[in-house]
Amino acid sequence: MADDLVFPGDRITIEEEGSPGRLAYAEDGNVYSLVVGKAKVEQGTADVEYVKDVERFRRGMTVVGEITDDLHAVMFVKINPLTRNGVTYVALKSGKILVSERRDHDRHSFREREERLRGKPFRLGDIVMGRIVGEDKDIYSMSVHDPESGVVYAECELCSGALKVSDIAGTLKCERCEHEEYRKISPYYGDFKKIEMKLG
Ligand SMILES: [Zn+2]
Repeated sequence: MADDLVFPGDRITIEEEGSPGRLAYAEDGNVYSLVVGKAKVEQGTADVEYVKDVERFRRGMTVVGEITDDLHAVMFVKINPLTRNGVTYVALKSGKILVSERRDHDRHSFREREERLRGKPFRLGDIVMGRIVGEDKDIYSMSVHDPESGVVYAECELCSGALKVSDIAGTLKCERCEHEEYRKISPYYGDFKKIEMKLG
């Protein structure tokens, strides 16, 4: 449902493809929505069907999403919609997390085993929890520095088995093949009921 949602001022199409119909207007050759709703272009007309109780995510909100791209120093997140007090919040754009392979306080760790496992805090496909700290036209900025933020579900890079929190701090272990991987792990890892309560 979230994918075809539009907000006031969002471009629906170009005027050549559809002239403005219900709850839409044209400006400079483009057609925009007047309201929050679902946009539809049919037979040369762009209509918007009004949808109530939908809002965009705001700064400060805690969100959950999937890591969809991993560039050198930035990871992109597809943020899941969520419903709170009868209002559905949607992202309509990706989130980004700036990542560093190693943080300063990691230098205090002299345990060889931990050193070996250090790396990026997340991997492609991880489900992560973070907080929205800013946004621009194209993207939300997310922080994962809160103690509660971090990965909440991940799969083994070798066998795709579910990873479980291991006894070693910052380490997940595969139930199936015992492979270990480093992560920034949320205390809510694997507990989707708690996560739901936290978000709702
Ligand atoms: Zn495995």
